[in-house]
Order: sequence, then structure tokens, then C-alpha cells
Amino acid sequence: MALDPKTLLCEAKALQEELVTLRRDLHAHPELGSCEVRTTSLIKKYLEELGIEVRPCTETGVLGILYGGKPGKTIGLRADIDALPIQEETGLPFASKNAGVMHACGHDLHTASLMGAAKILSAHRDALCGNVKFFFQPDEEGNGGAERMVRAGCLQDPDVDAVFGGHSSTGRIAGHYGLKYGKTYAASNPFTILIRGQGCHGAYPGSGIDSIAVACQVVTALQTLVSRRIFATDSAVVTVGSFHAGTAGNIIAGEAELKGIIRTLGPEMREKMCRMVKETAEGVAAAMGASAEVQIRTSYPGVVNEDGFTALVQQAMAELVGKEGIELETVPNMGTEDFGYFMDGIPGCYCSFGFGDGRNECRFPAHGPYFRANEAGLAYAAALHANVAVRYLNGGR
Ligand SMILES: [Zn+2]
Ligand SMILES: [Zn+2]
Repeated sequence: MALDPKTLLCEAKALQEELVTLRRDLHAHPELGSCEVRTTSLIKKYLEELGIEVRPCTETGVLGILYGGKPGKTIGLRADIDALPIQEETGLPFASKNAGVMHACGHDLHTASLMGAAKILSAHRDALCGNVKFFFQPDEEGNGGAERMVRAGCLQDPDVDAVFGGHSSTGRIAGHYGLKYGKTYAASNPFTILIRGQGCHGAYPGSGIDSIAVACQVVTALQTLVSRRIFATDSAVVTVGSFHAGTAGNIIAGEAELKGIIRTLGPEMREKMCRMVKETAEGVAAAMGASAEVQIRTSYPGVVNEDGFTALVQQAMAELVGKEGIELETVPNMGTEDFGYFMDGIPGCYCSFGFGDGRNECRFPAHGPYFRANEAGLAYAAALHANVAVRYLNGGR
């Protein structure tokens, strides 16, 4: 009965104080993406003391491997570990000691929770049918640390059969989980459009091509893609967030540069929107006597939760907190999350862990200087990681 879900939850709750200490230490010493040196060494030491094999994986990522006592499948559990370039203003006693850097997205909560799960699972290693890999991933906020860990081979040796992770949410109370089947997070494609007209004296537009006038039409046309070119039931966002051109009021600008991002749900919509952004920018510019050089980069792949594995996660949640503790979502998030890289041909599920207090203290949004979380969620996040792993590896236990 050692692997009983209620037992796992009790063990997680018994660790609560330790998890709070770990989390506050991480919170006080946040590190930006790809600079998580202190964070990484803390995680390594913790895992090594538990007898978990530790392999370096990218410069600041940590891969932990727990070999179960019996043969079986391998599951990957993931936490991101990086912080954001924000000056913390919470005034908490464990507020960031690093000026201009803050754990304002809750990745300190994710890290501490997964460390807790590693401790719980390592105590039960003999009973596990298969292996657990712990992905402590750097640089989620910036440059897709997940992709680098995957490229560095974290999914091989032993091969990973399923991946699980989650994000903290202060919008739901600690002890609750959020879950969505299917399309969950958007894929993203950042783009740059360089409009080339022809600069000239501001008094004589006929002797040039005004790149600003062209770029304005391009922006307007791009804004019709979502409203007029796709069905209302499909989802996409095209944002032009930067527009630069010109040097003076009496000179017609020869070039204009637009930067933006396309967000889509599912591979078909991704391909379609990228194609339409390029065609539209090039077509509008050509119609006005200018040219558009369109560069669209491939960024985070989106997260599509696999039905079968998501059902298993839902069951694992229900075993811990009952049906009333699960908030099933129907609306996907048009934000991005690089967890999708780990789901490269592998079934996966990305959920949400409640870290709210149901009152006012945790009302501040993530990515802001006042962000704070209800630490009571730590034990529940750790317990869910552990229970998903046990349920996946040991099935009926
Ligand atoms: Zn974030
Ligand atoms: Zn985050």
C-alpha cells in the first residue's frame, strides 16, 4: 500500500515545510534563463543526496534519473527553473536578493515541487516498475531551453514513453488542479517584415515610395487575416508589436521594419497563418510599388495534450483531491510554453497546479513585480507529479 495515492499525498504534506524552505531559497536567488548556475547546483546536490543519477544536460539544465526496482516504462517529469528580468516589489522577507531579477512566473514553485516529487519517489524506488526522469529545464521564458534539452538527448537512454508537467496558477486555489484535453497552448512564430520603398524629399512623394504608408497598409491587412480569412471557431493571433521607420518629418522613409508574432493552435492553422502573413505582406507591398522581405521564425511548438495520457492524469488528480478539486478547462491558452518540445512524438500532458489563496493576497498577475503565490500548493504539485508517475508506471499498483 506504500504507493497508494493518499499515502503519497501524506508524504508530500509531510515535506511541506522543506518545500517552503527550498522554494524561498530559490525565490530569494532567482537567475535568468541560461544563467541558472546556483539553481542548478542546488538541484544537483539535492538529487545526488537522494541517490538519483544526475546527468548534466545543456549548460544549466539538470537531468535526474531514478531507476525503479522492476523493469517497465520511463516517464519524464518536467519543471522549468528560470526567472524573469523584473525588480521584485512584494516586500516579502524572502524577496529576490538579485536586483532586477525575480521569480515572477512561479518557476521556483515548479522547481521545489519537482524536487519534492523526486524525494517521495526515490523512497519508493524498489516498488516502481520502470524509471522516472526529472527534467529541470533552463530558459523557458527566453529561448526554449526545452528544445536544447531534447537536442542534448534527455528523451533517450532510457527512452521516455510519456512526459508530464504543469504550471502554477494563482487563479485557482491550492489543492485544486486545472486540466485541458487536446490543444492547450499556442504555437508561436515570431516574424520580421522589412518594407523597402524609396526614400526622397518630403515635399515630393511622387519621386519615391513611402515605406511608412506601405507598412501601415501591411499592418491593416495583417489584421484582417484573423477576422476575415479563418473561421470564427479557429484560433489565431497576429500581433505587430514593433514598427520602426524614418528619421525626420521632412524626409519620406525608404524603409520600415515591422516585428510581430503569430500564435496558432494546431499544426494546420500554424502552416496556414504563416503562409498568409507572408503572402499578404508581399502582395500589399508589391501593389504599392514597394517590396516586403518577410522572415518568419519557428518558435515554441504549442502543447497538445494527448487524450489517453491526459485521462490518466485526470484520474491521478481525482485520487488525490477528488473530482471537485479538478477544474476541467475548455478554452486553450493563446500564450506559449516550451513544454511542447518534450512531446516530440511522445504522449504528454501539461496541466495547472493551484497556487491561489482564494482571497486578495495572490491576486497579482504573473510576470509582474507584485506576484505572489500560496505555498500550500507545493505539496499538492509534488504529490501530483509523484502520483502521475506511479499510476503510469505501476498501473493498478
Ligand atoms: Zn512566464
Ligand atoms: Zn512560466
